Amino acid sequence: MSADILDGKAFAATIRARVAGHVTRLKDSHGITPGLAVVLVGEDPASEVYVRNKGIATVETGMNSFEHKLPAETPEADLYALIDRLNADPAVHGILVQFPVPAHLSERDIVARIAPEKDVDGLSVINAGLLASGQNAMASCTPLGCLMLLRETLGDLTGKDAVVIGRSNLVGKPMAQLLLRDSCTVTIAHSRTKDLAETVRRADIVVAAVGRAQMVPGDWIKPGACVIDVGINRIPAPEKGEGKTRLVGDVDFASAREVAGHITPVPGGVGPLTIACLLANTVTACCRIHGLDEPE
Ligand code: NDP
Repeated sequence: MSADILDGKAFAATIRARVAGHVTRLKDSHGITPGLAVVLVGEDPASEVYVRNKGIATVETGMNSFEHKLPAETPEADLYALIDRLNADPAVHGILVQFPVPAHLSERDIVARIAPEKDVDGLSVINAGLLASGQNAMASCTPLGCLMLLRETLGDLTGKDAVVIGRSNLVGKPMAQLLLRDSCTVTIAHSRTKDLAETVRRADIVVAAVGRAQMVPGDWIKPGACVIDVGINRIPAPEKGEGKTRLVGDVDFASAREVAGHITPVPGGVGPLTIACLLANTVTACCRIHGLDEPE
């Protein structure tokens, strides 16, 4: 058997089209245009690309994009003053500060400064707490994308055994909370888990969010399981030429695809879903702020 390979790019396009539909309805029925503000501090080239892509994607769905580029040496007080202005700006429904930020700034304090209802990255302790207590939270974009893909692929997730490998605040923990909210039986594994292989073998759903290249081999996978590989790891690729590299996930794709029922590739699996979910969260934030029904 060879697994169905889940096309994250195609599914991300579907999410974006849905978002664009919601944006049109918000404009036509309520005269509201959702707006996403992205703040970049410093000149990290990778971050500049991410911010540009987010801006393009935002405008493509019909929303307003507000980009704020600040010099690397921006004092904390100036950044907070900008965040405070964005918190108070009725045209802005989502605020994202691109990480990493220069070392004199604290990511934790920046996230805490953003109004929780505009925290479209879902990183604040308020949103983590709301998610953990089953209330209306802004959920972190990457796990939210994984959940949407799982629902799209498997339908109702009730009663499924799910193993999340990784317990970061960014991916592992919110992923586990989202799966729990959908009535999965959830195990969170991490670097201290005893017999990870046996734990993973029980799982109908495996979400790997570790950051270790190809650490989950095919013989850990239960036949027919749905495998979501969040990891992004760069490894040497001598077959492409001297000094060349390629991206791989946390799952050994070649062996796992022989056993799994469904599997995401790296690249082209989970990656594209993150921006799509950022746009979806901005629409959700906009609806909540205006007291309107949220999209599903
Ligand atoms: P972190 O480094 O914050 O967390 C990694 C987790 O993996 C930790 O909980 C750690 O356990 C666990 N871990 C480490 N080694 C092992 C091991 N040998 N066995 C089991 N668990 C282990 O990473 P992130 O959660 O931020 O990211 C994980 C991966 O996902 C990275 O490759 C990252 O690049 C990728 N990523 C991809 C995104 C996308 O858009 N596709 C978005 C965000 C992340 P412990 O807590 O015990 O140390």
